[in-house]
Amino acid sequence: MASSQLYNSLLSSSLLMKSHSTSAVHHHIPKLVIKCNATPSTVNTISPPPSTTKFSAKYVPFNSISTNTPTTEFYSLNEIVYRSHAGGLLDIQHDMEALKQLDGEYWKTLFDSRIGTTKWPYGSGVWSKKEWVLPEIDNDDIVSAFEGNSNLFWAERFGKKFLQMNDLWVKHCGISHTGSFKDLGMTVLVSQVNRLRKMNVPLVGVGCASTGDTSAALSAYCAAANIPSIVFLPANKISMAQLVQPIANGAFVLSIDTDFDGCMKLIREVTAELPIYLANSLNSLRLEGQKTAAIEILQQFDWKVPDWVIVPGGNLGNIYAFYKGFRMCQELALVDRIPRLVCAQAANANPLYLYYKSGWKEFTPLKASTTFASAIQIGDPVSIDRAVYALKNSNGIVGEATEEELMDAMALADSTGMFICPHTGVALTALIKLRNSGIIGPTDKTVVVSTAHGLKFTQSKIDYHSREIKDITCKYANPPVQVKAEFGSVMDVLKKYLSNTRLH
Ligand SMILES: *Cc1c(COP(=O)(O)O)cnc(C)c1O
Repeated sequence: MASSQLYNSLLSSSLLMKSHSTSAVHHHIPKLVIKCNATPSTVNTISPPPSTTKFSAKYVPFNSISTNTPTTEFYSLNEIVYRSHAGGLLDIQHDMEALKQLDGEYWKTLFDSRIGTTKWPYGSGVWSKKEWVLPEIDNDDIVSAFEGNSNLFWAERFGKKFLQMNDLWVKHCGISHTGSFKDLGMTVLVSQVNRLRKMNVPLVGVGCASTGDTSAALSAYCAAANIPSIVFLPANKISMAQLVQPIANGAFVLSIDTDFDGCMKLIREVTAELPIYLANSLNSLRLEGQKTAAIEILQQFDWKVPDWVIVPGGNLGNIYAFYKGFRMCQELALVDRIPRLVCAQAANANPLYLYYKSGWKEFTPLKASTTFASAIQIGDPVSIDRAVYALKNSNGIVGEATEEELMDAMALADSTGMFICPHTGVALTALIKLRNSGIIGPTDKTVVVSTAHGLKFTQSKIDYHSREIKDITCKYANPPVQVKAEFGSVMDVLKKYLSNTRLH
């Protein structure tokens, strides 16, 4: 394999460097803090980027990127700023010229060499790409819980049985510290806040409005770093498992009688008045961590680019984060193209879908209705411009799923050994529709992004399997059989079951 040749040549060149001048090499190795008890990996497989190359990143107005116009407006990442001068979104721009001083093969080998390493903080799937994420942060300031490195599951049986597909994968971003992909972004945001507080920037805490998973991630990372967290949650609109996480992690939880959009409005007003750092995805720091999931997918395919990546979208930061991760890999020559992106919405909360269907003519925020995919029950997405940019530049598509479709898709996926959340059911529905219409072909390499762990959404599964959902047939329900504690009754039930089941 070409990459292993390269690996060997890099290995020998780094050894050569060492034999020439030990002190110079030491100078090149960043301070490594080993914060775990496991045996550290013994071989330095690739030398870290030379210290002469200085990587950096700054905030710029998002529209200077989307319209490709140079700007003189920029802000240091050490400033507390969420919006551009004109009130638009910000984006984090890396010094691409500095990153380009190292070629694509170098980056691939560097990232590959860090998988699973015990060298703080590079074992994290996010911080293994530190130079592309927050290049200037001190390793000691990083707040990490070994996020990322999530399973890319070959959905062999689901693909073959239901879609005649042989190259279908589910990226389980929800197999993570707090059970959703939000950890990927929150490690970056909380690390930066940790750094600011050490620099004596007056910040009393971090706050967010949330449909559940953001507040869970925020409170866990803040608790780990001893930073107060304040979360605004819509009363009775999130799952019990999601609500209990910030409570258990010691966050100050405000349960507010409104929906997510109402909570978002309130937190923005509050953070404008009080020195509380705003952790919503309006904040572009989080997207830098989330984009590493895209890089990780390429890495898990040995840098082969999939044809399609399908992402469920609500506030629409994540679809852009995926785009950004893929695009950076293309710009820095790790790969030569990017996948087509599909954003999947619940039909009950589908402002992006309607915008797409109008031929991108008219965007109208709406009041989202209740959906089992509660984390994407958002009618006025903050990152709408980011999503449109990502979709237009990736030849993208927007799909939608009704409640019945998403619950059925979830049940079918579970029946093939997964245990997915309703949001992933939305993404699978988009896949099923695109496959049935022939837009996605049988041999297309396709990744469905699973955004949260199914265990956070057990109530919806319980309702489905007990056929207790109004207006939904629950076609694939698999309820338990009530049986008397008596040998004869158990045998009767089992014989009936076995007569309907083929052996193999
Ligand atoms: C936050 C979240 C989403 C939506 O991500 P956006 O960036 O808001 O589009 C989807 N699924 C789950 C489980 C989430 O927590």
